[in-house]
Amino acid sequence: MIAVTDRPRIGVSACLLGERVRYDGRDKRDAWLVEILGPQIEWVAVCPEVEAGLGTPRPPMNLGRDAAGRIVLITDRVRDDLTTTMIEYSARRAAELAAADLDGYVLKAGSPSCGLDVAVEGSRDRGRGVFAAALTSRLPDLPVADERQLAEPSAREQFVARVFARHRQRKMTT
Ligand code: SF4
Repeated sequence: MIAVTDRPRIGVSACLLGERVRYDGRDKRDAWLVEILGPQIEWVAVCPEVEAGLGTPRPPMNLGRDAAGRIVLITDRVRDDLTTTMIEYSARRAAELAAADLDGYVLKAGSPSCGLDVAVEGSRDRGRGVFAAALTSRLPDLPVADERQLAEPSAREQFVARVFARHRQRKMTT
């Protein structure tokens, strides 16, 4: 159950907060998120690959294309196609998050699950991580950014302003 606080509530890729949930058992802690933004925020940490049951550690994976040319989520060596598992999990989780009164979301750049703009292997194409695609399609108005975008001061400022504006609006209507 999500605790109710007066702070904006932001969903976040769990590895960015320092949780050791990456495929190699490591994290991608982002100091600005944790130390500067964190104290003003109620985080909702989500690791889609762990929540979908893929475990830690797990084989590294990428976006690729199947024989029919569709973008798929596939492991590097064994070429396990995890697309259906992750699409089904992501639809369920995005529906839950749509009911969780989020004010924003910070995603991990480049991840085939969480990334907003991800390389598709074997081509110059770009795709969206499977969870990120479900989230942004379910919540098209939610302020969303990745940590790479937030390294840029004006993008950071704009994101924070949108999150706090949404939070104020939400508080006025609840
Ligand atoms: Fe989990 Fe997303 Fe971080 Fe990968 S990028 S470890 S799926 S939270």
